[in-house]
Amino acid sequence: MIVVVGAGIAGLASALALSPFAKVLILERRSSEDANAGAGIQLSPNAIHALRFLSTDLAQSVVDRASAPSGLQILGAAGRSPLAAVNYRAVMHQRYGAPYLTIARGELYQALIDAVGSDPRITLKDNVPVASVERVGDGWRLADLAEPCSFLVAADGVNSAVRGAVTGDGPIDTGFIAWRGTGGTDADVTSLTMMPGRHLVRYALREDTDNVVLVDKGPASDRPAALDSAQAFAVADVTGWRPWPIAVREPHWFGDGTLAAVGDASHAMVPFLAQGGAMALEDAAQLKAEVSRDGLTAAAVDAYAKARAPRIKRVAAQAKQQGLIYHVPAPASWGRDLVIKAGGERAVLRRVDWIYRWRPAHQG
Ligand SMILES: Cc1cc2nc3c(=O)[nH]c(=O)nc-3n(C[C@H](O)[C@H](O)[C@H](O)COP(=O)(O)OP(=O)(O)OC[C@H]3O[C@@H](n4cnc5c(N)ncnc54)[C@H](O)[C@@H]3O)c2cc1C
Repeated sequence: MIVVVGAGIAGLASALALSPFAKVLILERRSSEDANAGAGIQLSPNAIHALRFLSTDLAQSVVDRASAPSGLQILGAAGRSPLAAVNYRAVMHQRYGAPYLTIARGELYQALIDAVGSDPRITLKDNVPVASVERVGDGWRLADLAEPCSFLVAADGVNSAVRGAVTGDGPIDTGFIAWRGTGGTDADVTSLTMMPGRHLVRYALREDTDNVVLVDKGPASDRPAALDSAQAFAVADVTGWRPWPIAVREPHWFGDGTLAAVGDASHAMVPFLAQGGAMALEDAAQLKAEVSRDGLTAAAVDAYAKARAPRIKRVAAQAKQQGLIYHVPAPASWGRDLVIKAGGERAVLRRVDWIYRWRPAHQG
């Protein structure tokens, strides 16, 4: 039997990836109703390709529940007119073979839960917080289970108890807080506003609601610090601000023997490229490809780690670099703005081409 610890994006996707090979038990510490509540998530074309590799029905269900913004506008601290714009509708399908979507996390979660629920080889148990994990021979013993399992997936997020038990390391606080709120919507364009030391992302979740994320340095208080008058208009209608401290996992860790680590448990990264969830879906797809070739073995986990490590390292590094670019103060920001303006859409896409063009290796 395969045990997956955690029913977030990574855990649910991994269960779907592995159920063709054995029965899967997912253990989730919370009630799955509130496990993925809140906010929205952007899904870039590579995430859609990963979903399609797991199941075309699942990918379609996500597409049906999501919004497809018409484009992206990048703004500097000074004003309302964009420095550069990307026409998502014109380029995404044509360049990457999949759309760029925005979706409420609850909707993405529901699509995954529905897929898990209709797979008779997967069982999901709520309210089971896994506290201890111990290696026994080639398998793993969990305190809550009578029998050891032969294959274990650590999908329990940035504070992973499974990883803690095996490696002894823990999450690293970045000092950043992502403030999340919602506002009304009047445009189907995603916007990114860069300001000294912080940035703001705004996109449609549904026809009448925008998801708004303001990334700033902590400490967390009851609401984010006020924005300068030049940007205050962008958050004037936002309510329900909630802080989300940003922690990362470094070094990245992809597992050990017949234990595979996926998603934030493996490689939580700063969200400045909007790729953490996409990487979790890619992990699941890659794991499926490796297991279909090597079976539920340490060799498959090893091949998975080798396939994922260089890409995750590069994505996490570029995400960190995006933060430096977004947050640079004046006068350096004036030069940055000139470069973005001169490069336009082509330069923006050139930076993400290698990310969005991903397909799982060794498709099984
Ligand atoms: C502000 C912000 C914005 C983001 N925006 C994007 C974006 O636009 N696009 C994108 O792709 N990514 C984005 N991300 C990243 C993305 O949210 C994460 O990478 C992704 O949710 C990780 O999924 P996961 O399943 O690995 O972890 P989690 O979502 O944390 O799920 C872990 C699950 O494990 C459970 N669990 C934890 N401990 C235990 C235990 N001991 N026993 C049992 N169960 C346990 C938890 O309850 C949870 O359900 C963003 C992140 C942040 C902070």
